[in-house]
Amino acid sequence: MIRRDEIAAGLDDVRRRIARAAQAAGRDPDDVTLVVVTKFFPASDVHLLAELGVTDVGENRHPEAADKLAECRAYGDVALRWHFIGGMQSNKAAAVASYADVVESVDRVKLVNALDRGAHQRSHEVDVLLQVSLDPPGREGRSGADESELSTLADAVDAAGMLRLRGLMAIAPLDEDPRHAFDRLAEVRARFVAARPEASWLSAGMSNDFETAIAAGATHVRVGSAILGARPSIK
Ligand SMILES: *Cc1c(COP(=O)(O)O)cnc(C)c1O
Repeated sequence: MIRRDEIAAGLDDVRRRIARAAQAAGRDPDDVTLVVVTKFFPASDVHLLAELGVTDVGENRHPEAADKLAECRAYGDVALRWHFIGGMQSNKAAAVASYADVVESVDRVKLVNALDRGAHQRSHEVDVLLQVSLDPPGREGRSGADESELSTLADAVDAAGMLRLRGLMAIAPLDEDPRHAFDRLAEVRARFVAARPEASWLSAGMSNDFETAIAAGATHVRVGSAILGARPSIK
């Protein structure tokens, strides 16, 4: 099968499953945005995705993301929205904000200030999601803020001139039934949105659990391998 057909088949299947999960939850399928995670896949795949109607792509590493975006611009794919979904060091955050349209992985105030600086340099507003951790406290490699930190973080984003607070992002722990994790997330999100009704995006769900995330209210799902296939192994 040629690559385009392979990607088109994966995309069709995931789009159908998103629509079915939304309908089952009594939601409008158009309220769920598919972010195709293209990390480790070449710009030529991103180009095919754009041709197949994908509007949003996700990358998790700098500077690979910047390089790929530049290649895609050369293909003429100028309308794609680029989501940065990975952890970042604060000394890279300004650079990330110089090309990302949405930064989903904001979990500390230090990043907010650096992102704002990068967005100012580009004179372009950046949408921000606060990453909330669903892991138990103290877990190794834990990323994301505690719920108790969200309001301080949200205030910092509000105070930053070029950042727009859009909502929350989370990743389900590997060793827990995602239904339980996403139920907790739905409660965190309900409390957050009660205080900040304008920040109603919820980015949750990956290839293995996006239908569960949609049932729990996700407005954005981040799907990679179910569309593009298994990622080449990390060197
Ligand atoms: C890689 C990644 C995804 C996509 O994972 P798949 O299992 O390939 O769908 C989603 N979210 C984040 C934060 C990721 O790093």
